Amino acid sequence: MDESPTLGLLERALRASDYMVARAYDAESLDLALHESTPLVLLITQTLNGRSGIEISQKILERFPTLPVLLYADRDDVALFKQAIRAGVSDFLHPPLRIDDIVNIIKHNQKRAERMGDWVRREVRRTTASLEKRMDEMETLVKLGRTIHSSLDLDNVLTSVVTAAVELTGAEEGQLLLLDDETSELYMRAGRNFEENFARAFRLPVKDSIAGQVVHTGQPISFCQDSPSKIKTAYLVYALIYVPLRVGNDVIGVLGVDNRKNKLPFTQHHELLMSVLADYAVIAIENAQAFEATDKERQKLDATITNIQDGVILLDPDHHILLINPATRKVFGMGTTNDLTGQLVSDAITHSDFSGILNSISENPLKYHEIAFEDGRVFNTQYVPIPEVGSVITFEEITHLKMLDRLKSDFIHTISHDLRSPLTAIMGYVELLDRVGPLNDQQKQFVHHVQNSAQNITTLINDLLDLGRIEAGFDTRKDEVAFDAIVGYTLDNLNQQIIEKNQTLKLTIENKLPALRGNPIRLRQLVDNLLVNAVKYTPEGGTLTVNLFREGEQVILEVIDTGLGIPPTDQPHIFEKFYRASNTPKSTPGTGLGLAIVKSIVENHDGRIWLESFVGKGSKFVVVLPIYKRDDD
Ligand code: ADP
Repeated sequence: MDESPTLGLLERALRASDYMVARAYDAESLDLALHESTPLVLLITQTLNGRSGIEISQKILERFPTLPVLLYADRDDVALFKQAIRAGVSDFLHPPLRIDDIVNIIKHNQKRAERMGDWVRREVRRTTASLEKRMDEMETLVKLGRTIHSSLDLDNVLTSVVTAAVELTGAEEGQLLLLDDETSELYMRAGRNFEENFARAFRLPVKDSIAGQVVHTGQPISFCQDSPSKIKTAYLVYALIYVPLRVGNDVIGVLGVDNRKNKLPFTQHHELLMSVLADYAVIAIENAQAFEATDKERQKLDATITNIQDGVILLDPDHHILLINPATRKVFGMGTTNDLTGQLVSDAITHSDFSGILNSISENPLKYHEIAFEDGRVFNTQYVPIPEVGSVITFEEITHLKMLDRLKSDFIHTISHDLRSPLTAIMGYVELLDRVGPLNDQQKQFVHHVQNSAQNITTLINDLLDLGRIEAGFDTRKDEVAFDAIVGYTLDNLNQQIIEKNQTLKLTIENKLPALRGNPIRLRQLVDNLLVNAVKYTPEGGTLTVNLFREGEQVILEVIDTGLGIPPTDQPHIFEKFYRASNTPKSTPGTGLGLAIVKSIVENHDGRIWLESFVGKGSKFVVVLPIYKRDDD
């Protein structure tokens, strides 16, 4: 209010009634005063320092809507007061001013403001309480959600769901009923505030029961009645909510709460909470079922692997043990109790053959290996990479097969030996035939046949005896051998046949090829067998390619032809004794021993051999042999 006698009068009157007064002479200082204190009442003149008091009031009321604003006007002006009321002003003062009137108006407005304040506080409290309740509900639901995800104990989770239902709805008791498909009855899977015996014996027919109706229709039911309803014989309730437990289109049970003693009703909000809880229960049940199914599968797999007679080890990609079965433990005598899970397999199994296999896994394309024990046991070991798991190694005992193989070899060796002497006699006498008297042409022809056949048998027997010797490991002597010279020499010997068959030979031998450590006779046999096969199984006009080169500490021999090729089904057996490919014409001479000899020689020289072959296109045999190392190297 501008400085004036009226201001003085008002101030005195108010101070006399114990009010404190702060003055402001313009809108800015009024603003400041309002920031510094919280006035009970604001009294403002029609014009303040040249500005409309009503406009200023309106602005202030936007910020302090409960502040009573009184307008002081020069006179009783109805139009002005109407405008002021529209702006939110609470009351008016105008001359003539009486001290009583002033104080009464102020008091009246102060009271009104206080009442308003009380009301606002009450409202806030009420809203806060209801918000707090909602927060509690949310918290309960969140906690329950966590229990469901962290616990696999279905009883525990379902009991928590029912407990939450009872607590959130303020019900007297709650139950979770599940449908027994066989009997079409509902039984109590979890309950709250029910006697244990009652809960255990609780059975409701789906037909003719309120819960059954929920199962049937898939719709929730809730009611509150003055007279109690029957939910089971002689079991009466006043108020109830039943919500369905849905899995897809099926209803598998019902979640319910009820009041038996008091007639307190449930609200729609309670029903909503119950349906959220029902969803939780369904998730828990589905989780438990999924877990049970996976667990059963796992147990089956465990039992299979445990009881399997072959050794099985499952490894992760870094070769840590994921699983090891008792058969494997028995193979390596590892005891039955110590937990090996997580250990590096190379630490758990230190057998040298096994270590060798592990080391060669990355570079060796062969998946089958043998592990031999000093006590005579031999195991065939297979390594199989499994995508996204790691790998599996299996051990199959082949001791008996090895023994049979040895018996067979011994037998063949003995027979071959025993056949050699009579055969030599036959050859000798046949050669003598024409010396003891002249033979006619036909006799000469017959003698020639006999000589040929006897020669074939001799070759076969020599091959067999060689194989026996190589397999038995008699060729222990190893010298420094110039492998390139051997290959060159063998090719020279074959040159005539190659020319006769009109075949093209492409030969590449790397310069300064290092020497090998080996038995020169056997190495010649090796090269000879591979090259003879290449010539033999390649039709006229074909091409033979021979490459000899060094790679790291190894020498590699490649014999490539454009011949018949070997069918994929025959390839795994092609190095076995007497095995001949199914597409080889019967008329082609051969014993099926050549490649077996080749393989034995390669192994005897710590090398490796494999083939790539396509029927009708040709074959490629690759031999890898380690180079000679001087002892002082
Ligand atoms: P064989 O005395 O029958 O030649 P090998 O042990 O040398 O005996 O070879 C075994 C079989 O492998 C042969 O009978 C033939 O079926 C097949 N084979 C070997 N080398 C080749 C090749 N280069 N091309 C096609 N088939 C071959």
